[in-house]
Amino acid sequence: MAELSLQHIDKIYDNNVQAVFDFNLDVKDGELIVLVGPSGCGKSTTLRMVAGLEDISKGRLYLDGKDITQTPAKDRDMAMVFQNYALYGHMTIYENMAFSLTLRKENPNVIHKKVLAAAEILGLTSQLNKKPDQLSGGQRQRVAMGRSIVRNPKVFLFDEPLSNLDAKLRGATRREILLLHKRLKATMLYVTHDQTEALTLADRIVCMSMGHVQQVGTPLELYDSPNNVFVASFIGLPPMNLFDAKVDGDDLLIQQGQGYRVPLTAQEKQMLAAYQGKEIILGVRPEDIGEGAGFPVVVSNNENLGMNTLVYGNIGGPGGVKICAKLKGWIGHQHGDNVQFTIKRKHLFDKETTNAIR
Ligand code: ADP
Repeated sequence: MAELSLQHIDKIYDNNVQAVFDFNLDVKDGELIVLVGPSGCGKSTTLRMVAGLEDISKGRLYLDGKDITQTPAKDRDMAMVFQNYALYGHMTIYENMAFSLTLRKENPNVIHKKVLAAAEILGLTSQLNKKPDQLSGGQRQRVAMGRSIVRNPKVFLFDEPLSNLDAKLRGATRREILLLHKRLKATMLYVTHDQTEALTLADRIVCMSMGHVQQVGTPLELYDSPNNVFVASFIGLPPMNLFDAKVDGDDLLIQQGQGYRVPLTAQEKQMLAAYQGKEIILGVRPEDIGEGAGFPVVVSNNENLGMNTLVYGNIGGPGGVKICAKLKGWIGHQHGDNVQFTIKRKHLFDKETTNAIR
């Protein structure tokens, strides 16, 4: 069992920089939580406080109900996998994986069994006699994971473990981590700035901005009903389009040139009852835009991705609000083409608070 509870946690560094504000999270046993957000939002600081590598300035941290706020890192029964692998260059892969157990003076037979078992899980059996510099980046990252697995920790902590890998290897290693999670059924906390990693790996995502948690939820919850404009534009690629729009009778009026009307559904009208005549932010995912009689867009770029085409353009013509549509199939628009787009699904946000209107 490994349940983590972070309660009202703050981090204020010695230079008085507050990196984390009132962080609250209950991690269930066996859950894979991904902390995601842009660089500098406080993800690593949070992870390092859980690991015991940074002091917790305020708040409490519990592991299986036990208060470990002041417990030294080495006694927390957690293993951290770093971005730069942190392997010992002069040791073999076997020795690297065995290192923490050797330090603990475990029985050599037990160590041998554990290292072989971890190597088997990670497909490293034939690499055990090599040195780290004889391995690829992906293999080295697996050794770093193997070093954690042999310790059989209560909690695995990952700090941007895929950042040093190229795109293809990142995808493959991401799938390995997911399989590893399913196999070990371990509680994992995983930090990344990459929303794709968050969406594909997480049981639940914690999306952060400037030290504050913006939303906690399943990948689908964050994608489908983002709490605010920040989460809406951070989760999803290409990012959600955001337009200033005025609630005008039965329509939204996109505030652009002569203005373009987008009809509201009965439900949306109800949600916007208090906003009649006011400005809101209209969010539209590129994949929720289709071609058809709607509002005019002049194409600036057309990017064919195979299954989809990203069409970038400006509403009403050059100089108009930028828009990106992700259309199905191979579309051959040219720079300067006139097209009409319709909106299949809207996200509505309060302009002042930037919170979702629901
Ligand atoms: P992230 O992991 O999301 O990129 P960090 O947790 O590393 O963000 O950093 C959050 C904030 O705390 C940043 O403003 C960063 O500059 C600051 N910070 C990080 N480490 C220290 C430190 N040791 N001393 C002072 N400020 C720090």
